[in-house]
Amino acid sequence: MINKNNDYKMPIVLIGNSFKYEIESICKLFFHTARFNFTDDISEASGDNYITAKTEIVENTLRLSAEVRLNGGNVEYAEKMLPSDSEKNIAEHELCRLIYHILCRKTGITPPWGLMTGIRPVKKVTELIAQGLSKTEIEKNLSERFELSPKKLSLAYETAVNQLPIVKNIDRSAASLYVSIPFCPTRCSYCSFVSHSMDSAIKLMPQYIDALCRELQIIGKIVKETDTKIDTVYFGGGTPTSISADDIRKVMEAVADNFDIAQIREYSFEAGRPDTITEEKLRVIKELGADRISVNPQTLNDDVLKVIGRKHSGADALRAFELARKIGFDNINTDLIAGLPTESAESFKNTLDTMIGLSPESITVHTLTVKRSAALFRNGSENMANPAAEMVDYSIEKLMSADYMPYYMYRQKNTVDNLENVGYAKKGFESQYNIFIMDETQTILGAGCAASTKLVYPDGLINRIHNYKYPYEYISRFEQLMEKKQEVTECLKKIKSIPLK
Ligand code: SF4
Repeated sequence: MINKNNDYKMPIVLIGNSFKYEIESICKLFFHTARFNFTDDISEASGDNYITAKTEIVENTLRLSAEVRLNGGNVEYAEKMLPSDSEKNIAEHELCRLIYHILCRKTGITPPWGLMTGIRPVKKVTELIAQGLSKTEIEKNLSERFELSPKKLSLAYETAVNQLPIVKNIDRSAASLYVSIPFCPTRCSYCSFVSHSMDSAIKLMPQYIDALCRELQIIGKIVKETDTKIDTVYFGGGTPTSISADDIRKVMEAVADNFDIAQIREYSFEAGRPDTITEEKLRVIKELGADRISVNPQTLNDDVLKVIGRKHSGADALRAFELARKIGFDNINTDLIAGLPTESAESFKNTLDTMIGLSPESITVHTLTVKRSAALFRNGSENMANPAAEMVDYSIEKLMSADYMPYYMYRQKNTVDNLENVGYAKKGFESQYNIFIMDETQTILGAGCAASTKLVYPDGLINRIHNYKYPYEYISRFEQLMEKKQEVTECLKKIKSIPLK
């Protein structure tokens, strides 16, 4: 199949339009790692593989047409007529739909989220609920426009309904704090995040911790001066437990010293990889105020853990979970990944069943993403048949029947089978921070290397300030970075005027 080739270049010929972004998004549903070559040169539509997308006025009507050839096979053509004064976005959507249908037929792939790209399904459902539409009307609306599968429609609807009480009460005049510890013991083979191995970062660690504590002090001062309430705190990475217990203590003390943690609604610490979790670290995390922790096995299958470059076993993950319970954490999340290389559907089901048996308060099921930046995909390993869809279907059914309700969801580009990432929680254990991140109505203040600050203004305008990606840059250009933070004060002053909903 054409979509099994990492280096494949697909010409896409646009005639009479410039719908590059949408058409590329649709094509990516079928060809994850192909490189698209956009052109208006019709002579490019002559090889074994090409797509043409044409718009033209013919006898006072707008004719949309698409032509696709794959692997030297038959050329397939489709067209649709629209009124000549049709809006651009309607023409664009309908032209994408023509290409989508041809690609479904030619590849045998029917993307579960249909034509829905670049739109958050849950946000869309929430908007339609707010307009007063019923469940049936919402499902009809989305299935006609985007051709979502009934299963995904139902998942998006359930997720929106479950998060609605929290979304309705988001305090837009408050902010959340994200603390970034972008280090991991080793790099997982599928990783495309900004994460630095401890081996390479260890020399810079004392300076990094000092700079991070200074940044927390600076942000804390701004928060105090603007009298801003901090709603949630989230330590993420990387794997924040990669650093020593002493360093965890220093950073968490900087949070406690500079922010009023008594009024924080949720304090999460993503412990992440079981091989970094020790009793001493967990005790420090608990002592300094975190009330929600993640222990992320991803899978309990030792062979798969080896393939993805993890240095721990499934049994280590179970031990780390039990340790967190023993120390008194009563809100534990566990992350799993559907579609890991070499993992069978049976093995995934076994992991999920075992984790449900441990009764964590929340379970997040991610789907593997296939990104060029990840080591695993530089050798075409995404070519392997992947039962991710079966795993995801199983997780939805199994988790919901065990009283874990979907409460937040996001989709990423290049996910195996175009599937989704979903957080499930027992009632009352939904992570507020995860919902805030998706909803984009609360300001998030980021501290640390690779963190970003998301300033949400009263009119809904969002501005992001990105911290440097690499520890040496973050340390050496710290002062320069702090200058960029002046805007934080301005934004926090403005959001103070937002009345509570
Ligand atoms: S634990 Fe997460 S952030 Fe760290 S290397 Fe693995 S995938 Fe990347």
